[in-house]
This record gives sequence, structure tokens and C-alpha cells, in this order.
Amino acid sequence: MTEKSSMQSDYESFLHAACDRLGYSKSTLSLLSLAALEIKVEIPIIRDNGELAVFSGYRVQHQNVRGPCKGGLRYHPKVDIDEVRGLASLMTMKTALADIPLGGGKGGIRCNPRELSRRELEVLTRKFVKRIHREIGPNSDIMAPDVGTNAQVMGWIHSEYSAIYGHSPAAVTGKPLALGGSAGRDKATGHGIGIVVKTYAERYGTPLEGATVALQGFGNVGFHAAKALCDLGMKIVAVSDARSAVYHEDGVDIAALAKQKSERGLLADVDGYEALDPGAELEVECDYLVPAALDGVITKENAPRIKAGVIVEGANGPVTSEADVLLHERGITVVPDILANSGGVIVSYFEWAQNLQREVWPLKRVDDELERILTNAARHVFDHAAQAKLDLRSAAFDIAVRRVKEALDASGI
Ligand code: GLU
Repeated sequence: MTEKSSMQSDYESFLHAACDRLGYSKSTLSLLSLAALEIKVEIPIIRDNGELAVFSGYRVQHQNVRGPCKGGLRYHPKVDIDEVRGLASLMTMKTALADIPLGGGKGGIRCNPRELSRRELEVLTRKFVKRIHREIGPNSDIMAPDVGTNAQVMGWIHSEYSAIYGHSPAAVTGKPLALGGSAGRDKATGHGIGIVVKTYAERYGTPLEGATVALQGFGNVGFHAAKALCDLGMKIVAVSDARSAVYHEDGVDIAALAKQKSERGLLADVDGYEALDPGAELEVECDYLVPAALDGVITKENAPRIKAGVIVEGANGPVTSEADVLLHERGITVVPDILANSGGVIVSYFEWAQNLQREVWPLKRVDDELERILTNAARHVFDHAAQAKLDLRSAAFDIAVRRVKEALDASGI
């Protein structure tokens, strides 16, 4: 194991263990460790103040044997090739676990989107597409929102790509509804977390009514997860965003917090709620902990202080591989990212399919199909974990890695 955990080294350690359990060769392991294609581009833009700024952009295509590469585009100051590589690999496993006909990819631009104007973001996004358009598209690599991007950014990608190739809505998902986006895509990741938690509770016979939740992250995923978990009768006792965190043992009011955040940009300073230091929400007493912000937040340092019984990985890679071992020893269950947050890419698959067929599905169809696919995937993981006496991440990896290997074998690689 490396000195410091990283997205890619964590992925490799989970993959290595799966290949060992499945009896796969070293060459299969290295094939699944490596990305098929890695792109790095430098993107110059003129800032609003007239100055030149240059941003690094990345797109990594990990695997396309089960279908075109699929995965988000992240705008964040910490984006680098290692992170994008690790995230792209996880997408291969996520689409395989959900058993949807897509592969894995991921992209990112190293920038702070909060410090860029709307015009600057649009120019940056369009220039990125101009640089990489030959490598992306409905049959090769399909982008979607991730940390720091949203439907608007996908709209610009759609517009720029379509200007070159003609109207091509299936080239990108998570688009605005007006441009062929799917009903239910916006809430899909958070909504999916609710479906996975419900399926988990049914399987393990744990009541959800009144069960307490600590939630890290109040962006698209965190907000919709909070709503879905409240709908299941759960009580959100702690919530944080990048700069603030609040706590109340009787539960916080999600709608009031969302209003406060949109008006003032901060969660703290709500009367009657205790303000926590950012990061402290991970360590509060609760039944479920949902880290739904960034990777690498539960480490070997804070893992011994986690008090939750179950961790549900809303973000990608929030638990490092070292922390994973410690949590397992302490009897804390981790519901892995490739299952827990796969609602987003599953509805992206529906959006892609609708665009290819020139269809528009009603929300009910999207929600029902999501529930069916995600419940099946979750039950499959729980069954395999019980049968093979594995933790849930190992079970999920085994199912996903086996599916990718079967496809490689069938394609003659
Ligand atoms: N960025 C999301 C993820 O990490 C969604 C990817 C997609 O919809 O393609 O799963």
C-alpha cells in the first residue's frame, strides 16, 4: 500500500483483492488497473479582467468493453490525473455492477468554479470540448455532471459538440430538460441513495423510522439524499457543506437549511442548531453516516472515532482503503460508492437511451426503472456478501470485476 492513500491506489487495492479472490491472472489485474486512454489539455481563457489564465483539463477513458465510456466531468481545484484515473476506474465498476451497457470514464478541469464568472465557465467548457471532441461522443465517451458542474455545463457541452457533429443529445447526459435531459436525472443520485438504504434496511431487518443520519455535503447529491432519507422516516441530525456544519439531536429541517443556503450561502447560524467544526459531522453519534461530498474524507486518522453503525458512500471514494480495513475491524458496515451512488449514472443511461431512440419518458417510468435496477443490484451484492462471507465492498467488486472480465473474454481480448 502507498504512503498516502489516493483515489487510484485505493481503487487498485480493492481491485487487487477482487482479482485474488476470483483467481484472475496478473495480466487481467494490470489490464483493469490501467486506463485505455488518458487525455490532458491546457485550456487558455481570457478572464473577465482581461488577463490570460490557463487551466489543465483531463479526460480518462478506463474501459469500454461493456459499452461506451461513461462518467462525470468535475470542476475542482484539487483535480489531478490520479484522481481522474481513480474515478474513471470506479465508473467501470459502477456501470458493471448496475449491469447497464456502459463502460467507465471521468474528466475534470482543475479550477475553482466559485471564482469563475458564468461567462468564464462557459468559455472554459466550450474550449475543453473543442480540444477533446474527437475522443467523445454517443458511441465512445459520454460526460455528465459531477462535483462543481451541473446541467448548465452539460448544456454548453451539448451545444459545442452539436455545432461540430450536428444535433447529438446522446453525447452528454445530465442536460437541461429543454435540451433532451431526462426527467428525474437531477435528483437521481440522492434518490438512489434512498433506494439503497431502504433495500439494505429490508434485508438486514433494521427499522428506518427515526433512525439517525449524519450527512456530509449539501450539494446536489447531499440535498436529494436528505430528502429521500427523510421520506423514509429517518432523522437527519447533522449536515455540512464545504464551509459549515450544523447539528440538532432531534433532527434538522432540510427545507429550511436549503432556503438558508440559497439565500446566504451558508448552513450555519440557524437559530437553535449547534454549529459544528467542518469535519466534525463525520464523528457524531448516528445510525447512518452519508459522506456525500469529496473523496478521502474518512481516513485511518478519523476512522477510529466514527460512531455510525453504517456508512453509505454518497460520494466517490470517501473512505480510503486503509480506513476501510479499520472500519471493517470495528464492525462498521460500508455500503460502497459503486452501489450507493449509482442512481446518477443509471438515470444517465436512461437519458442516453431516450436520446438515441428519440423518446421522452415520464418521471414515473424513470423512477420505476431506477428502483428496479438499483434494488436488483443491491440485493445481488447483499446475497453475494452473505454467501461468500464478504464485506459489501468486496462483494460489489467481485460482481463488477467478474462482469468486465466476462466481456473481455467474450470479445476475445
Ligand atoms: N458523476 C456521477 C458519478 O460519479 C454520474 C456519472 C454519469 O451520470 O455518467 O456517478
